[in-house]
Amino acid sequence: MKKLNIEKNKSLKFFNAYFIKTNAKYFYEFKGNISELQQILRWASISNEDVYILGGGSNILVTKDKIDGLVVYVNNDDIEVYDEKIRVSSGVDSSIFSIFAYVNGLSKTEFLYGLPGKIGGAIYMNARVYENSISDILKKSRVVTYSGEIKELENKDMNFGYKDSIFQHKNYIIIDSEFELKKGDKGDILKQMDYNLKQRVKKGHFDYPSCGSVFKNSLMDDIYAGELIDNLNLKGTSIGTAEIFDKHGNFIINKNEANGKDIQKLISYIQKKVKEMKDIDLEKEVVIW
Ligand SMILES: Cc1cc2nc3c(=O)[nH]c(=O)nc-3n(C[C@H](O)[C@H](O)[C@H](O)COP(=O)(O)OP(=O)(O)OC[C@H]3O[C@@H](n4cnc5c(N)ncnc54)[C@H](O)[C@@H]3O)c2cc1C
Repeated sequence: MKKLNIEKNKSLKFFNAYFIKTNAKYFYEFKGNISELQQILRWASISNEDVYILGGGSNILVTKDKIDGLVVYVNNDDIEVYDEKIRVSSGVDSSIFSIFAYVNGLSKTEFLYGLPGKIGGAIYMNARVYENSISDILKKSRVVTYSGEIKELENKDMNFGYKDSIFQHKNYIIIDSEFELKKGDKGDILKQMDYNLKQRVKKGHFDYPSCGSVFKNSLMDDIYAGELIDNLNLKGTSIGTAEIFDKHGNFIINKNEANGKDIQKLISYIQKKVKEMKDIDLEKEVVIW
C-alpha cells in the first residue's frame, strides 16, 4: 500500500482562531484528492482513530493538550463560475468566495465578506450575518461520509435551521458546493462588502483572538445571548487571561496566551449565572475539541 500522506504530532496552534496550543496525533491536509481522502478515512476506521474535521478553526475551542485522533484539514481551493452560479471547494475562505463573486459581478455573498473561516465551516454552522444565512444561497453540496461514500445533497436535504445543519448530526465531510447567485451592480456589491467589514472592525471583532459568538441566540424567544450577558453585568469577567469581551458580551477573548480550559470554565460560569438569574439555558455555538 502507498505510504499515507499523514503528519504525526502536528501543532494546531496556528490552525485555530484562539491560538490555543495543542497537537494533533495525526494530521492530513485535504487538497482535493478524494480517493486519497477515502483511503485515509478507511485507515482511520481500521485503526480506530476518531476523525476531526478542521476548516479555518474560527469556531473551534480546543481544550485538550492533544487531539487524540486524525485531524482532516479541509484545504481544497477550486472555485469556478458559470452563469449565475459558483461552484466552490470547502477549503476556500468565505471572504475569498465573496471577492470572487464580486469580481464576476455576482451579488448575494456580500454578507460573507469579513466572516472568518472557510466555506465548509460556514455551511456546517449555517453561518448567519444580520438577516442572511448561507443556506439562503446554497443549492447543493457534495460530501464524503466517514465511511468513504460520496453523496450529493440538495439544500432541502441539509436540514438547515438557525445555526444548524445536518452536518452537526452526521459524519459527513463537505467537499464542495454550488451557490445560486444573481447579477448585481459591482459598485453596490463592493459598497456593501466594505460596509460589512468596517462594521466588524468597529465592533472589535479582530481586536483579540476569539471564536466570535460563543452562544447561539434564541430567535423564537427573542433572546440575544450578548444582550443577556451584558444586562447581567458579566462583561469584563475573566478566568486566567480568558475574558468576556467588554465590547460584546457574547465574545470570550484570549487576552494573552489563555488556555482552552479557562475559556471553557468561563463558558460554564456564564451558563450557570444566566440559568440562576434568568432561568435560561444558553446553548453553545462554539464547537469544543
Ligand atoms: C471574529 C469572529 C467573528 C465571527 N462572526 C460570525 C458571524 O457573524 N456569523 C457566524 O455565523 N459566525 C461567525 N463566526 C464564527 C465562524 O467564523 C463561522 O462559524 C465560520 O463559518 C466557521 O468556519 P471555519 O472554517 O472556521 O470552521 P471551523 O472552526 O474549522 O469548524 C467549525 C465546525 O465545522 C466543522 N467543519 C469545518 N469544515 C467542515 C467541512 N468541510 N465538512 C464538515 N464539517 C466541517 C468542524 O468540524 C467544526 O465542527 C465568527 C468568528 C470569529 C472569530
